[in-house]
Amino acid sequence: MCRHLGYLGPAVPIAGLLDGPSGLLRQTWAPADMRGGGTVNADGFGVGWYPDDDGPPVRYRRAVPMWTDAGFAQVAASTSSRAVLAAARSATVGMPVVDTACAPFAEGRWLFSHNGRVTGWPDSIAPLAADLSTVDLMTLDAPTDSAVLWAMVRRLLRAGAPVDDALAEVVTAVAAAAPDSRLNLMLTDGVTIAATTWWHSLATFTGPDFVVVASEPWSPDPEWVQVADRRLVTATLSPTPAVRVRALGSADK
Ligand code: GLN
Repeated sequence: MCRHLGYLGPAVPIAGLLDGPSGLLRQTWAPADMRGGGTVNADGFGVGWYPDDDGPPVRYRRAVPMWTDAGFAQVAASTSSRAVLAAARSATVGMPVVDTACAPFAEGRWLFSHNGRVTGWPDSIAPLAADLSTVDLMTLDAPTDSAVLWAMVRRLLRAGAPVDDALAEVVTAVAAAAPDSRLNLMLTDGVTIAATTWWHSLATFTGPDFVVVASEPWSPDPEWVQVADRRLVTATLSPTPAVRVRALGSADK
């Protein structure tokens, strides 16, 4: 069931976000909490990071296990960033193992990832996908549930929705159309990270000058906080690093 992480803070080498004792790299071959099946996350990986010049994020993704890509390890060790979204993939049965099925999905300033699966895909959410334009459907990154979720989120973002509202709306609609789906989504614009829990694991870490949102803690530090199920998390640095957690589909908790 895939893993993902988002980071906002001072510029740090990307490798430092992946290589921790229980970091995303280790989670590709020894994840601790694979609710919903799978044993490794070896069907690909991707990392998106925001460059110093405030330009759009740079994205790298490949359908190989992260530990096999020595070239990327060098890039990650020598590239620093203040905002990163990274993901490792365990493909859902029946979905292709190709570069373009790996998160992060990207457009403009946005980076998106999905941990989980849409039950009954594709029929269960076909009625929702009917709201997408023909061009959206023809330009899906890949024939996967995650790519359709991204097209739905992207449509709301293009219409001006804030990152947290876009995720909440899509999770609520998909959960209604496809009950029992696992819908841990993560989205960032480089300033805010929004993430959902819907039947899958998520933890946050609020440091003195950084915030992290991740499927699994990458270290044993007691500062990691597990997020309850069916929540919408919003993490920002300004005015101080903070994580806000709201119940999905109802008032503030
Ligand atoms: N269902 C998605 C895919 O196959 C995500 C997989 C996962 O979270 N394991 O790409």
